[in-house]
Amino acid sequence: MKNTPKNPALLVRISDDKAEDRAGVGRQEADTRALAVRLGWGTGEVFVENDTSAFKRRAVTLPDGSTGLRVFRPEFRRLLDAITVGQVDGLIAYHLDRVARDPRDLEDLIDAVELTRIPVDSVTGSLRLASDADITMARIGVAIANQSSRDASRRIRRKMDELAEAGTYSGGGARRYGYEPDGMTVRPDEAEVLRYAAHRVLEGASVTAVGRELDEQGHRPVKAQRWSSKTLGDQLRSARVAGLRVHRGEIVGEAAWPAILERDTWEQVLVALNSRRTYDNRRELAHWLGGLLFCDRCGHALQANFVREGVHRYWCHSGHRRGGCGRIAIQGEGAEREAERQVVEYLSRPDVAERLAEVTSRRGADRARTDLAADEHQLRDLSRMWAEKAITLDEYAEARKIIQARIDGAKAVQMAQVPEAARKVLAAADPAAAFRSLNPTRKRETARVLLASLGYKGWKVEPHDASKARRFDPSRMALMEVDR
Ligand SMILES: [Zn+2]
Repeated sequence: MKNTPKNPALLVRISDDKAEDRAGVGRQEADTRALAVRLGWGTGEVFVENDTSAFKRRAVTLPDGSTGLRVFRPEFRRLLDAITVGQVDGLIAYHLDRVARDPRDLEDLIDAVELTRIPVDSVTGSLRLASDADITMARIGVAIANQSSRDASRRIRRKMDELAEAGTYSGGGARRYGYEPDGMTVRPDEAEVLRYAAHRVLEGASVTAVGRELDEQGHRPVKAQRWSSKTLGDQLRSARVAGLRVHRGEIVGEAAWPAILERDTWEQVLVALNSRRTYDNRRELAHWLGGLLFCDRCGHALQANFVREGVHRYWCHSGHRRGGCGRIAIQGEGAEREAERQVVEYLSRPDVAERLAEVTSRRGADRARTDLAADEHQLRDLSRMWAEKAITLDEYAEARKIIQARIDGAKAVQMAQVPEAARKVLAAADPAAAFRSLNPTRKRETARVLLASLGYKGWKVEPHDASKARRFDPSRMALMEVDR
């Protein structure tokens, strides 16, 4: 950083938004001069820029000598040139948004400042470029200021929200299988087909096989001649058939249209379809720790794995497309016994019961949903900022990690979509006994909600200690926090 600037540029801008322009150009200039005095800087030239909406994009020469397309801001470009050639030795702006609305303009300024290492300050404190943190703040500030253009899409989304709240939004497009084009009236013949398909899937038939059966029986999907496993799978997975409203990928409540599948049946179908995607066969469904155990070496989720009749293990599967390291395995029955012991112990603690009640309550689920929506929104903003080069890949990756962890947490709590089982366990006189009596699928759901409410995502499984006897060692399982 250079010494105190004797000849800093002062940048003010006529706003293109009248309502927002509380400080006229005169006042901006007076304030920047006052700041220069306060900082003990001299004062140099004042750069006054017009409303930029008046300018078209054109090719400009960038501080590094290359050429790029920008909304042409002659005064801003003149300022960058003045900085680059050393004509000014500092910069005082009124506010960040007077300097840059377009993230690329900000990047050009950052480049110029990095090249010359001149000090930068602003009346409102929104623009300083002395440290990486300052630069990140400025980038975020510009990206946020940039949102106004998205007001239109926000209005549309709000409208969709309202319709979804009312339970009448059918999403437009093609007729949904099982329903008339109004999306509200059930077609009995097609409803019967869906119930049959669900029943067959729960019996263990593959979606492909069921699709073939339907083809043979002459049942056709809405827009095709034959059923594909995707078409049928999508139908069965759709929350609509369970009479649930989904909005932006989340279940938001009971719909105004009638359900074709009982909610309980639908959930079981989901679990069956999803577990088949992850596991080898239906046998795996009996093994409730699937997705709750993680490899201590590589972080991969362990998968249930058949050893011999009546014996299974959880393994960091290294097979084709499984991506695990193959170096950690734990005996299945022992792991389930230990996990159940811990879960039951938690369920017996009043503070834990309270907490679980909180997340499984309507309000808890609502809040999780709100948090989730906010985080997902933020994630989209971030990825846009990165796409626009407003932040570096490292900054993006770092921020993404933090937000993604929160989303994972909220999603886990959202399994409170499934809380039927968890609620029942909680309402039971003896929650521990109620948990033990659950079927494996319900155990998994309940354990997941319980762990999420405590900030855990499961257990990590450590390598077997070779100095110990070769029998099940519960100390290899350690609760694992949701990543932060
Ligand atoms: Zn591993």
